[in-house]
Amino acid sequence: MDFHRFVQHARAHAKTRSRAAGQKLAAGQQPTTMFITCADSRIVTAEITGAEPGSLFELRTAGNVIPPYSLTAPTSEMATIEFAVLQLGVSEIVVCGHSYCGAVMALNGAKIDHLPAMRGWLRPRQRTRQPSDPAMRAEGQEHVREQLDVLLAYPFVAEKVANGELRVHGWFYDIETGEVSACAEQAFLPL
Ligand SMILES: [Zn+2]
Repeated sequence: MDFHRFVQHARAHAKTRSRAAGQKLAAGQQPTTMFITCADSRIVTAEITGAEPGSLFELRTAGNVIPPYSLTAPTSEMATIEFAVLQLGVSEIVVCGHSYCGAVMALNGAKIDHLPAMRGWLRPRQRTRQPSDPAMRAEGQEHVREQLDVLLAYPFVAEKVANGELRVHGWFYDIETGEVSACAEQAFLPL
């Protein structure tokens, strides 16, 4: 789809929305779920989850990387997660990685010398071994587990998980098949 078609669609968008639906959205949002995933254009969260406007609170980053919690160096990602949990009171957070993820490839040896910000962002997390699967599924799933560990170290996340008010899920989206698997104790299993 080229940009011109996006413009055409945006111009027509208002006509597809009923007045009542617009008023309901204007009154506020009460999403129950936060969805953290990669900025990759092949991931269309509403397509995967069936989410409608107002139902999914999203955070999209390069490689769905979640920064460590640090109030001395707050980040946009931290602020977004804080808002979802403490203001909106979501009860579920999904961290969704995917196959053929450029960030996971960069973490596993792909050259990104021309992307200094990405290099700086990923460097502390880089690995040295050479993966055999070009889709880097195992590496992508391990990467999701690592982000879950970082997320569970956010104090308010840890507290709400301990209280049973919040659940945290690791998902992995296979770009080729469209299948979604979920992080279990030992492996990722079909959702
Ligand atoms: Zn990605």
